[in-house]
Amino acid sequence: MKIGILALQGDYEAHARVLKKLDVEYSYVRTPADLNGVHGMILPGGESSTLLKLLQQNGLFDALYERLKKGMPFFGTCAGAILLAKTVISPAQISLNAVDVTILRNAYGRQLASQMATGHCILNTTPLPLFFIRAPKFIDLAPDIKIIATYQGDPVCIQQHACLLATFHPELTQDATLHLYFLELVRKTAIPHF
Ligand code: GLN
Repeated sequence: MKIGILALQGDYEAHARVLKKLDVEYSYVRTPADLNGVHGMILPGGESSTLLKLLQQNGLFDALYERLKKGMPFFGTCAGAILLAKTVISPAQISLNAVDVTILRNAYGRQLASQMATGHCILNTTPLPLFFIRAPKFIDLAPDIKIIATYQGDPVCIQQHACLLATFHPELTQDATLHLYFLELVRKTAIPHF
């Protein structure tokens, strides 16, 4: 099993460190050809508008869209989640339209621009560390969306089909719960080639 990590901009190296620690094979994805042999994709945090421009420039936008339509599992954190949400607002921008949710960019005020907190995760009995950096917020979730983690009652990690979206940065904490859950999702999807 090989995980692709979108490596155009943002904190992709942090995701690589987590996968390395978990002894999982990964490769950086910068062109459509890099997707060959990849079974699941991680879209990192960063600046979603910049990522979008870079994706469109090199043909990766269409290539990722195609993989999503085929059911490839994706894990998007923060800006990565913004790229995967169906509707993006504040400001609006296009997306890969993979998960039936609206996401509000830069939803938290200045004092919350960057903060550590803890939340509740259905996968664990212990509190989940949350690292927010100019975090977006999920609104208007489709009824079949599974809420994986919450912060003060609001969803901060959600799943629809094989897509996992987090508004925070699990890759910047020591807690690998969500990465392990994503890897399980990739294993279960059991599609050998995309
Ligand atoms: N605010 C950024 C955006 O809208 C996301 C920030 C992040 O990924 N930490 O793209």
